[in-house]
Amino acid sequence: MKELIELARRRCSTIPYRYRVIAVCFDSRGDYLGMASNYYGIKDSKSQNCHAELRALRRWGDKIHKMLLLRFGQGGAIRAIHCCPSCDKVMKKKNIKIILAA
Ligand SMILES: [Zn+2]
Repeated sequence: MKELIELARRRCSTIPYRYRVIAVCFDSRGDYLGMASNYYGIKDSKSQNCHAELRALRRWGDKIHKMLLLRFGQGGAIRAIHCCPSCDKVMKKKNIKIILAA
């Protein structure tokens, strides 16, 4: 788990936004699937914006059993994060367990 957080931290340094969130995904056996970051598209095209949870879902779909949600501040410190109401609804519907790192 520690290695994954390190990996996420390195990955987040490539996210060009102030708000940097990574969803680390695991399958039902607890095996690591991969990680997804948040994405904000071009201004004024709201449909391009996507939270890390939804991007992960698009990639791994029903394989995902749980997600570790991480947000990193400047310098790589872990910051408090929680699912927004809209993602929360989707995660509950899909029966995905969200784990918060902070
Ligand atoms: Zn969200």
